[in-house]
Amino acid sequence: MIKKQLMALPKQAATPRMLKLAAANPPKVRDERSWWDGHITKTTVYRYPLYLRCIVQDGIAAISFYAADTLQLGGRKPIYTLFVNKGKDQFLTYSHTDEKWLTAMLKNLSWPSYYYKGGETWISTADRKRLQSYFGSTEGVERTINEFQEGVRQRQLLARQKRETDPWDEEQKQVPELPKDWLRWVDKVGIPEQFVYYQYRRGGAKTGYCSYCEKEVPIVGIPRHGKEGRCPCCRHRIQYKALGRVGFLVTGDYVVYLLQKTACGFVLREFKVWCRQCKGEYLTPKTNYHEIRRSFFTSDGKQISAYEWGWYKRREVRWIGCAILSSHSYYWTHDGRVYGKTLPQLMKSGLSRTGLKEYLADHAILDPEDYLAVYNRFPRIEQLVKAGLTGMVKECIRSTYDYEQAICNKQAGSLKKALGLNGPQFKRLRENNGTIAFLRWLQFEALVKAAIPDKVILWMCEHDVKPKDIEFIIGRMNVVQVYNYMRRQMFVYHMNAREMLTTWQDYLNMAAGFHYNVNEEIVYRAAKLKKRHDELVRRSNHRDTVSRAGQLLQKFPHVDDICKTLSEKYEYAGDVYTILAPKSLVDIIEEGDTLHHCIASSDRYIERIERHESYLLFLRKTEDTQEAYYTMEVEPNGTVRQIRTEYDKQNKDIDDARAFLREWQGVVAKRLNDTDRKRAERSRVLREEEFVQMRNDQIKINHGDLAGKLLVDVLTADLLENAA
Ligand SMILES: [Zn+2]
Repeated sequence: MIKKQLMALPKQAATPRMLKLAAANPPKVRDERSWWDGHITKTTVYRYPLYLRCIVQDGIAAISFYAADTLQLGGRKPIYTLFVNKGKDQFLTYSHTDEKWLTAMLKNLSWPSYYYKGGETWISTADRKRLQSYFGSTEGVERTINEFQEGVRQRQLLARQKRETDPWDEEQKQVPELPKDWLRWVDKVGIPEQFVYYQYRRGGAKTGYCSYCEKEVPIVGIPRHGKEGRCPCCRHRIQYKALGRVGFLVTGDYVVYLLQKTACGFVLREFKVWCRQCKGEYLTPKTNYHEIRRSFFTSDGKQISAYEWGWYKRREVRWIGCAILSSHSYYWTHDGRVYGKTLPQLMKSGLSRTGLKEYLADHAILDPEDYLAVYNRFPRIEQLVKAGLTGMVKECIRSTYDYEQAICNKQAGSLKKALGLNGPQFKRLRENNGTIAFLRWLQFEALVKAAIPDKVILWMCEHDVKPKDIEFIIGRMNVVQVYNYMRRQMFVYHMNAREMLTTWQDYLNMAAGFHYNVNEEIVYRAAKLKKRHDELVRRSNHRDTVSRAGQLLQKFPHVDDICKTLSEKYEYAGDVYTILAPKSLVDIIEEGDTLHHCIASSDRYIERIERHESYLLFLRKTEDTQEAYYTMEVEPNGTVRQIRTEYDKQNKDIDDARAFLREWQGVVAKRLNDTDRKRAERSRVLREEEFVQMRNDQIKINHGDLAGKLLVDVLTADLLENAA
């Protein structure tokens, strides 16, 4: 509706008659009791709360509404004027109070409060007739307007939905008729359950009716109700059914697929099918199919759109456009048989490039939509299919992630090169219908520079052992030795592969912690692994610490030896404070655990000890040197880099210790030799470089008391250089 046009219509002021009526019908005040708490309120009511006038001009009805209280005061302006264009199925309201246009329906506008308290709307007989003839209705005026407005809204909604559904319906028009033998195919192929019905007789029935052959067939042996067998005529798997015992019978639900050519390519139709029969009707079972999904593709297998059959806006059951791939459900499989006769024609176009046909030949049951979706994301799946690697294809359909990870050379055209295999390896992969796990072992051969026998690989795959699981021992043992050792230990101690590997690694870590030579065969290849492991567990009442120390010692083998040399140079006792050196890595880990600071969780400080860049020392109170107090990171000349107590904090009490630390630095300076001084110099250079780097990177502390501060500032404040 054009607002300017509406505004040009004659203005309607309240008539003198309305003013007179309003004056003659003043408001009445009524007591109103609240149904809620019995509270009484005064309520104003009018005989005519609302007055109405209307004109009709150029097919437009202008209906004005006047409030009783305004009229009473002599006001002649309406509160609203509603414009209706019946021909165009439109309406619009102008609010004279707010001087603006409103699109809401009449019943949703705001009205004076007394309007809701009862009374009737006054309208002159002439206006009433005018409106009734305009709307072609004999109902009351307000009801007529409400019904018209609701009708407009409903028609607008339908038009909007039609704009959505029309293109859907257009696309559905491409879908051809079902093939003539569709029902028969569903019955014989789509539903795999077939039966042989027989009449019970003593000594066993000799013949029965095969639901696949649809004729009497001989029965070999004695049939039993519910037993599985094969029909001697059609060779189908069947189930025997004694006719006396079969009542109502319904098969399971199965999914089947039909691919058909369309103008743009092809449509993939998904059906749910089942078969049912009532008692005694075994000769005429009823085959049912229900189409649940349609997907449209270009001829070379790119998905264009997808539809599901269902309730649309709670209004009708129809084809509803939905997201491509929304069938990817992890809760139930959509795998099903595919109708074969339409395929040769489709293969003449680009579909032959997708490998779908070859995969179908091998895996009669699948979800083609899933397959094509994977093909479009990961076209190499076609090479996998054509190489006969259907195991891999299956895994790919579940998730392509592992394969994309396993492809070493993404650019390579040939599959062999892409997988990083040589000719003989590729042949072995195909011969074993290898999976991703198998492939990973073949790729591992290049790393260990030796062939791994297929039976070893198959065993590893079967036990879900991946190359990275045994990397810790490679170098000391080859894969075949690992295989033999694992099998032996698993057999002797009834462990599965996972338990065996955990035990082994745990044992090696503990052994290293106890300073065994874990590079000696007698140690790393202990004949009675579980027994040795359990012994070490018993020997250490702090097994985790020893095991962790062992793990670190395998990475930083000199740390324990270095710790042993620290005491003579750095230990010192004063009246109040004492400085102790750790005797081993275990001491360091325990200190870190006690004070909950990061030296225990990060390799960094251990690595610095290994390099003689800095050492960790313990500051204790002389009265109780057993109790952890502060941990210090100290450069070889006694310069203190950091001093930290619980949770990496530094408390006020450390200021009291500064004088003692100066005194100690003086003592240390006298004990140093040339090597120590050279190491100290290198440590200072490294530290200064690190500080520059930290300042450039603006590294901040993320948690604890000092969160938000620049790390380099905190560390600089900590620094207590040995000036002695
Ligand atoms: Zn048969």
